[in-house]
Amino acid sequence: MNPFRYERASDVASACASAARPAAKFIAGGTNLVDLMKLQIEAPAQLVDITRLPLDRIEETADGGLRIGALVSNSAAAADMRVRRRYPLLAQAILAGASTQLRNKATTGGNMLQRTRCPYFYDTTKPCNKRVPGSGCAALEGFNRMNAVLGVSDNCIAAHPSDMAVAMTALDAVVETIAPNGSTRAIPIDELYRPPGDTPHIETVLEPGELIGSVLLPPPPAGRQIYRKVRDRASFAFALVSVAAILDLDGGRVRAARITFGGLSYEPWQPARRSMPPAPPHSKTRAATATTISRSRLPAARCAPR
Ligand code: SF4
Repeated sequence: MNPFRYERASDVASACASAARPAAKFIAGGTNLVDLMKLQIEAPAQLVDITRLPLDRIEETADGGLRIGALVSNSAAAADMRVRRRYPLLAQAILAGASTQLRNKATTGGNMLQRTRCPYFYDTTKPCNKRVPGSGCAALEGFNRMNAVLGVSDNCIAAHPSDMAVAMTALDAVVETIAPNGSTRAIPIDELYRPPGDTPHIETVLEPGELIGSVLLPPPPAGRQIYRKVRDRASFAFALVSVAAILDLDGGRVRAARITFGGLSYEPWQPARRSMPPAPPHSKTRAATATTISRSRLPAARCAPR
């Protein structure tokens, strides 16, 4: 392992200032970053430990939503009764990911910023533009069953691995950040992740030293919520594909539907959302409408080589 400096931040301002330095990184649960450091895929010169910052609360908002602090553990978020009752698909998505031990350590902010599980990203003997910009992409002609098929580029076909982010996207979450100069931003989660393009190593719109402080959930949408995940084994596996669905039914007819997919793209992939004319859930009209909207937001759809 490469030597690095360690600093335990006592307040948000100093944490952001320290993390803005070259090759510095925030660390909280460390469930992904420490693994990457052991493999020398990540080699930060400085780690800024933010675990003592007061960002570990889940709070009600005035409009009936929730603000989930960036340091709330995945286990705590999934167990919170307000989350379970009002945002059940978020609790389901969290519990569909990792193991109990990992969920106890992993944080809300870290979960959304975890790196891809593309096998070639973790294999330092293989070319990978995300790990070493300009080196190539071994996944293009390699084993890429778990990689992305939507929004990919010729430089990277990695999929985003987070289940939580899929649920957050379905729920229209907003990521609240603090920058080193003290300014704050509210970033809709569907604007957080950058498409790979020519720079797959730059994965989000966050600036150096910009800290996720919390995630804001608007009031729960009408309808039934559900999260389903297809994976190669029942426990502790990343999604081949997952879906977060919110279906608002009027008797036997669908009034509105939100569908968000995981495992398919560099970000949780959400077809353009629109209210549907009421129709039975399984009608041909419904299927045609779903196909149309699913094709309406493909940045650069391409099937990866199989
Ligand atoms: Fe690297 Fe992306 Fe190619 Fe995987 S798909 S090898 S992460 S460049």
